[in-house]
Amino acid sequence: MNINMDVTTNKFTGKQKLEYTNNSPDTLYKLFYHLYWNAFQPNSMMDQKSLYLGSVRLNGQPDWDPRVTDRISKLTPDEIGYQNVSSLTMNGVNQKFKVHETIMEVFLTKPIPPKTTVTLNMDFDAQVPKQIRRSGRDASNGVRYSMSQWYPKISEYDKNGWDVTPYVEREFYGVWGDFDVTINIDKSYILGGTGYLQNAQEVGYGYEKPGSKITRPAGARLVWHFRAPNVHDFMWAADPGYKHIVSKTSDGIDIHVLYKTGSEDQWKEISEVVPAVFPFIEKNFGEYPYKQFSVVQGGDGGMEYPMSTLVRSPSLGTTFHELMHSWYHGVLANNESVYPWMDEGFAEWATDKVQYFFNDSIQRKKFANMPASLKIVDSLARVMPKYHADLYASYLAAWKSGIEEPLTTQADEYQTRTGYFLGAYSKGGIFLAQLGYVTGDHTLNKIMLQYFREWKFNHPDVNDFLRVAEKVSGLQLDWYKDYWVNTTKHIDYAIDSLWEEGGKTMIRLKKNGEVPMPIDVLVSYKDNSKEMVYVPMYLMFGEKPVEDKTIPRTSFPSWKWTQSTYVVSVNKKLASIKTIEIDPSLRMADVERKNNKLDIPF
Ligand SMILES: [Zn+2]
Repeated sequence: MNINMDVTTNKFTGKQKLEYTNNSPDTLYKLFYHLYWNAFQPNSMMDQKSLYLGSVRLNGQPDWDPRVTDRISKLTPDEIGYQNVSSLTMNGVNQKFKVHETIMEVFLTKPIPPKTTVTLNMDFDAQVPKQIRRSGRDASNGVRYSMSQWYPKISEYDKNGWDVTPYVEREFYGVWGDFDVTINIDKSYILGGTGYLQNAQEVGYGYEKPGSKITRPAGARLVWHFRAPNVHDFMWAADPGYKHIVSKTSDGIDIHVLYKTGSEDQWKEISEVVPAVFPFIEKNFGEYPYKQFSVVQGGDGGMEYPMSTLVRSPSLGTTFHELMHSWYHGVLANNESVYPWMDEGFAEWATDKVQYFFNDSIQRKKFANMPASLKIVDSLARVMPKYHADLYASYLAAWKSGIEEPLTTQADEYQTRTGYFLGAYSKGGIFLAQLGYVTGDHTLNKIMLQYFREWKFNHPDVNDFLRVAEKVSGLQLDWYKDYWVNTTKHIDYAIDSLWEEGGKTMIRLKKNGEVPMPIDVLVSYKDNSKEMVYVPMYLMFGEKPVEDKTIPRTSFPSWKWTQSTYVVSVNKKLASIKTIEIDPSLRMADVERKNNKLDIPF
């Protein structure tokens, strides 16, 4: 793409040349493109959905996005966003197309057979919308241009056919490709985003080799030339006031931080902390396949893009979350509209690990004068937080308030915005945390690495993930999707009753909820010894390995979900027991914890 940007009118013209290969087994008779910025116009689907959410009251408050509210309905013609395609050819032949707001349908003059490549040439122009959501100009934090979803983007054709998801609220999906982008813009602007800068010595602004001479061409404009291999999107941002910090990870990945406003110390901290956590992330979640990652200040919240993120302010927590999206969506490019929980939930789960690692090792060592003898813990198994408390608390709130919807809900089709966040982020994160309870955390770590290795640069879905999880764990796991993803059924196990029989203590467990789960029961004795009682769930056709080798475990035959109670026993008298607790690790999303634990009072 070659872009000519006019910073006085906030419009640009562009030429897009796309070498498109039909890698599917099907003949394509049509093509679809996304024209995302057409959403920023009064009465668009995005406007309508936001106004609808404003009419929904949760705890007396409108449920709309405070950034969007009714702002789209009030945009004037020079504030709206648009992408206007003026011509499209395939192999030099003009193609007819029809624009349906944010989706463009192309009626091909000739079908594209499997395994063939065509060249699509497009002329287009666009107006950058006033900053409302993710992309736009002149955000309230002063950033001039946040350029995401900025170009006509070919839709993905996969085993489910065309992705013709209009831009209503959120979430993206794209075709893998090699991007080559030139941006011709006023010389005073500094850019950041996806892609390696090809002409750093002409551009300067901190991109040049340290200490080298910059030979900037004469004239009022500068052309920035970027290349990004094997990515599914391309973002850039531009501002004349950006400051630029460059740092490096221990394995040579360049970290760029570009910022305009906010605490300089905090931006500096991000430039130091990102390289510090990178080895931990790569070791536990898979090798980062690019040589660069950029944290760029943008106009809105935090949003993930290949090789980069746009964040509104210098928040370390947000940066960790967006960085983890480089794995869960950047490289494992699940369809975010259909499976938003597979990128948001997985990123949340991984962010908890990174945050924990940071707090536990780097931060304490660096900021609290920990003794030099403190070993930086770099193995996920050793820093695994037992409890993603935030995720479970949000899930419980959603369940109680009745706004929970199944995770199979399409991202834009959640009835409430709050319900979307509780689902995609919290219940999606618990999907993994709780899978650790089912398979054992050690096995879950192996699953996550194997998932990355098998599915990087592809478009995995929930079944692809589960097949990896099954192969690595040796357990059958379809039931876990059936209940946890496809329904809003809940988990509630209880200790029902106790009695003594022939010197043994019998413990009757009860399944009150609809979701069957394997059961850990920890029995603590008055002599301070402990025993784990384990009941696998019938549909697993196997059991998880012993997780804590310091506590002896007794396994019982599996529990069939058609059975509402189950009796286990320990070879000690009732009087020797101090407490009995179902799932002491708190990884099972049991909605009623009060009936999980029993203190024996005598
Ligand atoms: Zn996210």
